[in-house]
Amino acid sequence: MNAEIIAVGTELLLGQIANTNGAYLAQKLAEIGVNVYYQTVVGDNPERLEKVLNVAEKRSDLVLTIGGLGPTEDDLTKQIVARHLGESLVTDQPAKDKIDTYAATTKRNLTANNLKQALKIDHAISLTNHNGFAVGDLYVNEDGPSYVLLPGPPAECLMMIDRELIPQLKKRGHSNHVFISRVLRFIGIGESKLVTDLADLIDHQTNPTIAPYAKMAEVTLRVTAAAQDEQRANELIEQTVDKILKRDGQYFYGYGDDNSLTQVVINQLIDRKLSVTAAESLTAGEFQSTIGSVPGVSAVFPGGFVTYANEAKHQLLEIPNDVIDTQGVVSKATAIWMAKQAKAKMQTDIAVSFTGVAGPDELEGQPAGTVWIGIAYRDQEPEAFLFHFTNGRQQVRARSVMTGLDLIRQ
Ligand code: ATP
Ligand code: MG
Repeated sequence: MNAEIIAVGTELLLGQIANTNGAYLAQKLAEIGVNVYYQTVVGDNPERLEKVLNVAEKRSDLVLTIGGLGPTEDDLTKQIVARHLGESLVTDQPAKDKIDTYAATTKRNLTANNLKQALKIDHAISLTNHNGFAVGDLYVNEDGPSYVLLPGPPAECLMMIDRELIPQLKKRGHSNHVFISRVLRFIGIGESKLVTDLADLIDHQTNPTIAPYAKMAEVTLRVTAAAQDEQRANELIEQTVDKILKRDGQYFYGYGDDNSLTQVVINQLIDRKLSVTAAESLTAGEFQSTIGSVPGVSAVFPGGFVTYANEAKHQLLEIPNDVIDTQGVVSKATAIWMAKQAKAKMQTDIAVSFTGVAGPDELEGQPAGTVWIGIAYRDQEPEAFLFHFTNGRQQVRARSVMTGLDLIRQ
């Protein structure tokens, strides 16, 4: 079952609004095993919509339009699709009753335009609009593609998809698969290295599929399996996840779409009752602000230091003068001192420090992106690690924060 979505609307075409209905519809279809192969956006123009329908009917089994079911002149989708199918438009009695009742209770006179919204394509199953007046259509075709017409306003469209369309498609057997996805999250490995490690699986495996996605400092893999039932789909996912983790398990830190590294790390610290502080130079508080986003962090984070200028490092952290003078501020020694002093002053189990060159200019002869991250952990000798980040000031700072979190991951 190959589906195609046609979003109708000049405002979509010109980028004034985003095609959020199309995105939602595609996801809902995928969940019931209907493959969306094409999505088209076309303006409110009868000839061009007709052209798009001509193309769609040759390559798709299910054609779904969004928008243009309203009362105004430019709302022409239903008229064009009906003409394309050689069907007439007839009144949907429940939809007309609803409009009549509304007119009676609000004492309005109905116009022909209002009643237009109660029209459905003859022989189509009507899809009730729970949030508006325009009725939707499901036209099941034996010898050609089937058609679905949905309204444009998101509140109407999404409700119709959930309450009417998906149950109808399921009932009619247009969906014989369940699709299940699992997201794996990695840190400390670049997308290209991960993709190279898994090239054979990514390129040749069709069920489950593996889709990589790189975000700020981390990479995610979405593993999606299709099967007759949930249990089988989960088994397929397990097998693939095993293969992936055998190769790159050391970089894996968690599952899930929203389960960010920050949450994972902070929740681990909370579980293990390990408190943390930070002394931040180039990140200027971004690490502390980031961990502050996790509910419950106060159990393990008493506060910390933003020591941007050297003067602040002396005053707030009491780093001996000669350390920065002789070693430089972007140095292993400074990073270690920052972590050590922050830990001593805040009396925490862990302290992390950041000193480096955010850029764009170099500092102390070191290029932008040079970052030392220091760690003081319980009674262990404090350490510091050198990183070279790229892609501009904000990325350098954000990746420093993520790497700091990775370094204190338990
Ligand atoms: P109306 O009764 O409001 O005229 P309609 O079914 O004719 O509804 P459109 O006129 O095409 O739909 O769109 C109505 C509004 O819905 C648009 O102004 C836009 O804000 C929103 N909309 C339309 N299509 C989409 C879409 N694909 N994604 C998100 N929003 C959309
Ligand atoms: Mg409209």
